[in-house]
Parts: sequence; C-alpha cells; structure tokens
Amino acid sequence: MSRHLSPHVSRPAERCVPPTAGLPLALSDLFGRVPGADSDLASGLARAFNLPWARIECSGTAALVIALTALQRLQPGRNEVIVPAYTCPLVAIAVAHCGLELRLCDLQPGRPDMDLDHLERLCGARTLAVLPTHLAGRVTDVAGAAALARRTGAFVIEDAAQALGARIGTESVGTQGDIGFFSLAVGKGLTLYEGGVLAARDPALRAACTRASEALARRHAGWELRRTLELVAYALCYRPALLGVVYGRPLRNALRAGDRVDAAGDLFDLRIPLHRPGRWRQSVGLRALGRLPAFIAGCTDRARRRRAQLESLPGIEVLGDSPVVPGAAGIWPVLLLRVSDAARRDRLLDRLWVAGCGIGLPFAHALPDYRRYASVVPWQDAGALPNARDFAARVLSLSNSPWLDDERFERLCAALVAD
Ligand SMILES: *Cc1c(COP(=O)(O)O)cnc(C)c1O
Repeated sequence: MSRHLSPHVSRPAERCVPPTAGLPLALSDLFGRVPGADSDLASGLARAFNLPWARIECSGTAALVIALTALQRLQPGRNEVIVPAYTCPLVAIAVAHCGLELRLCDLQPGRPDMDLDHLERLCGARTLAVLPTHLAGRVTDVAGAAALARRTGAFVIEDAAQALGARIGTESVGTQGDIGFFSLAVGKGLTLYEGGVLAARDPALRAACTRASEALARRHAGWELRRTLELVAYALCYRPALLGVVYGRPLRNALRAGDRVDAAGDLFDLRIPLHRPGRWRQSVGLRALGRLPAFIAGCTDRARRRRAQLESLPGIEVLGDSPVVPGAAGIWPVLLLRVSDAARRDRLLDRLWVAGCGIGLPFAHALPDYRRYASVVPWQDAGALPNARDFAARVLSLSNSPWLDDERFERLCAALVAD
C-alpha cells in the first residue's frame, strides 16, 4: 500500500474517467468498407461469440420486450415475470410495457445472483419467465434458476445486457436460457449508441421472436436520425479530453443536487422506443467489433491485477463470478466492490464519486426503493428483500476503463483505506 500518496484521488488537471469500460469508437468505424467476412452485425456477433442465432434490436430493453411478447403468445395463460430485486429499472419498465406482472426475487447474501430458495417460492403456474442476470459482467448460475423455472413450465430469459463476451467454458452467456439478450447501449461495451441483441437456440423461439420483432419494431426515420447523430457525437466525445464536459460536469451537477438516481444514470423514460436499427449504425458496430475481443482481453488482465490488489484492502471484497458455475469467465466493464458496512460505503461515495475517478454505483437502489418507478414496481414492506437491499447499500462500482491508469488507481486504493 502506498500510504505516502496523496489522499486526493483526482488532481486539478486530471481527466474524468468513464464509469465503465466502453469500447472507444475510431473515426474509421464511421466510414468505409467493412473488414472481414460478415455482411451484417448479427452474423458478425454470432461468429465472434459463437451464438447459435442473433437478431439486432434497438435496445436491450426492446429486445426484452420482444422476447416477453413472443413468450406471451406461446403461453397466454401466464403473466408473471420474476427478476432479481437489484437490477436495471429498464427491466421493470419493459415488464410493465408488456402488461405483465413483476415479481421480485431477493439476492443471495452478498452476491448479485438470485436466491434460489426465494425463487422456488415465487415460481408457479402463472410464471411466464424468470430472468437470471449477469450483473456487471459477473456470470450467474443460469442452470440453477432454469431448473426451478422449468419445473413449473416457465421460460428462462437470460439478461446478459452487461455481459457481451462473458463465457462459461467455450459457450457465450445468453445461450443457456430459452432466450438471451445483450445491450449495445453506451457504456456496455460495443455500442450503436442504443442497441440490443436477441439470442435463442430453439428454432420455434427464434421464429416467435422474429414475428414479435417484425410486428413491434418497424423502421422509423425520426428515431434512426436521432440515434445516428447521437452515435456520431459519441464517437467524437468519448475520449479523455472531452469526458469532463460530456460526463463529468453533469455528474457533478447531479451529485450537488443530491440526486444519486441521476448520477448513476438511472433516469429512464417510462415509454420504450421500438424501431428497427438502421444499416449504417449496424455497420459501425460491425467495424468496431473487430477490436472487441482484444479490448475484452485487456480489460480482463487489468481486472485480474487490480482485483488482487483491492482484495488486500481491509473491508473491501471484489465480487467474482458465481462460484457454482464451473468454467465461468465473465467480462469486466467494472469491478464490483462490496464494502464492510453501508455507512462506510456512503462515506466513500460522498468523497469519491464527485472526483470522477471511476467510483460510482451500478444502480442507485433496489427496485422497490426508487420513488420514480413506483408505478412499475410492486410495493414491498421495509423488511422485504433484505439481501437485495443490503447489497444495494454496500455495493460500489469501480470503472475498469483503460483510461484509469495505474498511478491513479494506486491513489484510489489509498483513498479507499483512508476511511
Ligand atoms: C442496461 C440494462 C438493460 C437494458 O439495456 P438497454 O440497452 O440499456 O435498453 C437490461 N438489463 C440490465 C441488467 C441492464 O444493465
């Protein structure tokens, strides 16, 4: 430990670190020929990650809406969807969009995985789907959840929104459930500014997803123009010199206003845009995809080194993949830290989040504790979902962006033990 280092994790001229390790776009991704053999992004992704089938949608949330719609048509008598109680609020919004009922599953103590005893009690004749979730790239136990779901005739949708590139042995995550989905949003790795990917093995489910997608997600010139401009702006601005303006300043404003929901990037519209992502944006993703495997490998190396160093700090645990999944090899957009107690976690957040050094929250709250989403999340009394709420109160995320350099990481470690 470098005790002599300044406790100030950011020096005045230092630049802001993005909250996750997103793959930076090169300007050459915007133009020119697509290298390689694949003519479209879906087949490029299928080849790169050994997916049996892939379909591009306009967001991860849209992919989930399409998956739920497809399953609903196959099982119209079922209307409940079980999700982990600590996950992206967009999941709750998607379930409400489909007119389905959300059921919240508690987490395992100290882990982002669903508690299988609670899941077993929630599963029943009305369960349409269960959503095991690879939060922050950490591989979860899909097989355990699937065994419980299938016993009651429910489907499994694997939420791999934050886990494109994570594997179990040689298999990609997202392929063990009946349907899997990935996000191509900003900050989740490869990006089209907004985008999503559906995956499925079974030909009947692929056909059902395709039908639902064709019915729900039509071409829409207005949305495509907007996303095109946003993607170009992202390609220009996602670089160290500009992040302070496009990310750091709004972050500081949100924190100054005491708004952790805004600071965590959890302010979502309750209406979900559904449209077909255009060819040009998909070609940008396909050009960038060539660099993704090496980028993921670099993130994995850095995470391995930093995880060992963070684990040596008192009262800080770095969460790994589920220990019950042999061969799990997650990806590392962030390192998920669990702090010894909630008060200490809050003091660290108060001090470090504004510094723009990569410390923040994956999500601001467990789902029932957002006032903003009360209309799409069932009310829970204060004693319910104890593990999910404890997890939400003690977790921190640390960016694994290559722009957080070793020297600054050392200072951050010193600041983490200074509390
Ligand atoms: C981001 C996210 C989604 C939604 O994906 P978008 O592409 O942002 O719509 C769903 N689930 C989880 C766990 C996520 O992190």
